[in-house]
Amino acid sequence: MSPSNYFAETKYCPRCNEYVRYLMSLQTSYCVRCGSKVHLFSRKDQDLFLRSLDGSRGTGRQHRKKGA
Ligand SMILES: [Zn+2]
Repeated sequence: MSPSNYFAETKYCPRCNEYVRYLMSLQTSYCVRCGSKVHLFSRKDQDLFLRSLDGSRGTGRQHRKKGA
């Protein structure tokens, strides 16, 4: 088992609040510890990911001005 393989076998469980091993079903994956649905990314990581795709906006949370 290589270390680089480890993360590929884990997903984020919001209940455990960390990346955990999971059981895969057809549409959803479940935490092996608590049985909650797990996500590919944590909210924070997902936010970073989406932001990196967006690119044009800077860091920090800014409200868009209406009609701008
Ligand atoms: Zn869990």
